[in-house]
Amino acid sequence: MNSKFAIVGAGLIGRLLAVALAQRGAHVDLFEIGGPEALESPARIAAAMLAPLAESTITENNVVNMGVYSLPRWKKIIGELSTPVYFQQDGTLILWHHQDTSDAERFAAHLKKNCAANNLLSAPQHLDRIALHSIEPNIANRFTQGLYLPNEGQLDNRQLLAALLLELDILKVNCHWHTSAEPEQLQITNGYRWVIDCRGLGAKAAWQSQHELSDLSSLSTNLAQSNSLRGVRGEVIRLHAPKVNLRRPTRLIHPRYPIYIAPKEHDIYVVGATEIESEDLSEMSVRSAMELLSAVYTVHSGFAEARILEMATQCRPTLKDNLPEIRVKKTINTSGLMMINGLYRHGFMISPAILDCALELLENAESKTALDLGLSIQREPSLERLSACV
Ligand SMILES: Cc1cc2nc3c(=O)[nH]c(=O)nc-3n(C[C@H](O)[C@H](O)[C@H](O)COP(=O)(O)OP(=O)(O)OC[C@H]3O[C@@H](n4cnc5c(N)ncnc54)[C@H](O)[C@@H]3O)c2cc1C
Repeated sequence: MNSKFAIVGAGLIGRLLAVALAQRGAHVDLFEIGGPEALESPARIAAAMLAPLAESTITENNVVNMGVYSLPRWKKIIGELSTPVYFQQDGTLILWHHQDTSDAERFAAHLKKNCAANNLLSAPQHLDRIALHSIEPNIANRFTQGLYLPNEGQLDNRQLLAALLLELDILKVNCHWHTSAEPEQLQITNGYRWVIDCRGLGAKAAWQSQHELSDLSSLSTNLAQSNSLRGVRGEVIRLHAPKVNLRRPTRLIHPRYPIYIAPKEHDIYVVGATEIESEDLSEMSVRSAMELLSAVYTVHSGFAEARILEMATQCRPTLKDNLPEIRVKKTINTSGLMMINGLYRHGFMISPAILDCALELLENAESKTALDLGLSIQREPSLERLSACV
């Protein structure tokens, strides 16, 4: 693939795609409104849990399948980077306090139903006190039972973003930091074969504007208009807690404060996350801080002496149906425009699948992986000819 590509947005999917295209010999220009540290991206503050079974209670089957597909792909993607990235696939632990047993039973029944309907998922295992003690010795004095979701994983998002950054340098990707770019403008003037819009929430206007959709079929137009982009506020707390020794991502079922705790290396724990229908990017509210901190303390008393390293807020880029989508549209001269968005709360869980679908579309005009996984691709038919000759 020796064509010239522009990628706008160096968050999660933009970085992955830039590295993948450069690895295949493409010339890549990458434009990012912020700096190389990704301070503007939710990918920097995310817990980066890779939990398709746990998430199956709140998302659709296609996203779950993208999550299952992506777990082994992460190992390969990370294995090909020049610097190590912490990756763990040791399952998820689900806990609840005695008074919330009926909520936990409902959750377990939901998981069981999803596993019965999807043979890609591994069934959850019920843990009594002894079994709980054997997998998480530090937690068993407060809880008498739990659920274990095998095969689920997590990675260190900050290490990943830094490792991808180094790879961009090694592969000589032309990075334009602190540069706001408009994909449609790049498409017109710079002789790119493909411009790929990975701006997350920064692409809001493009996903909403109707004049851009005028040349799509009426079916696509209706779909596109009803699928505008929004931000969903999420708040997380980063703790240093050497007195807590949790080995794997842990979720607490709670009627008001359901939380997760994602243990990273060096006694760092990411505790989150709120989910609020708002694009407010201001600092964490007192209420959210109190809820997250009080809930985490009920899981392990060692959190009492933890140090608060960071309280962070970001918005998840979300389409109306909470599902990801790739849109391929508009031919100006011979250049194509691809838009990737709607990764919502599953960007880490599903981005290898999204990446593979995008690469297949760029190379072959078709994506069997997208068909198999049920990823929505909205496309102008006239672009098929264009893609085939990339
Ligand atoms: C609190 C929280 C917790 C999360 N936890 C998890 C989790 O545990 N597991 C999981 O799978 N996912 C999680 N996510 C979701 C994940 O972080 C997102 O799905 C993912 O970051 C989206 O990736 P993206 O590349 O589409 O967009 P982004 O990461 O938002 O990247 C978009 C980039 O485009 C840049 N940009 C915007 N406008 C312009 C412009 N005009 N010109 C140039 N650049 C521009 C932005 O600065 C940004 O760097 C979480 C998110 C949040 C907020």
